[in-house]
Amino acid sequence: MAYVIVSTCESCGECVEVCPTESIYNIKDNAAWPTHYINPETCIDCGACVAVCPTESIYYEDDVPAEYEADIEKNEAFYAEGPGADLI
Ligand code: SF4
Ligand code: SF4
Repeated sequence: MAYVIVSTCESCGECVEVCPTESIYNIKDNAAWPTHYINPETCIDCGACVAVCPTESIYYEDDVPAEYEADIEKNEAFYAEGPGADLI
């Protein structure tokens, strides 16, 4: 289980600053991967990122609203096969 960033993220970067495990990245100006994403392999479920997000775009995996369910896989794919694989 992990926290997940959904598509309402506006890539402000606030969450990156508070994450104790450096689990959050984005790729600037990449239309295919427009938001920030959380690495589910390294997220320790501390919730610190949730508190600072101005767009309320971060949810615990089990609590992700149905309309954003595809974003769970997108966070994982960013690190497994997307551009995030080169960052970790
Ligand atoms: S829940 Fe904690 S460890 Fe996971 S991404 Fe957010 S700040 Fe990082
Ligand atoms: S704090 Fe929220 S809006 Fe800003 S980059 Fe993180 S998830 Fe996106």
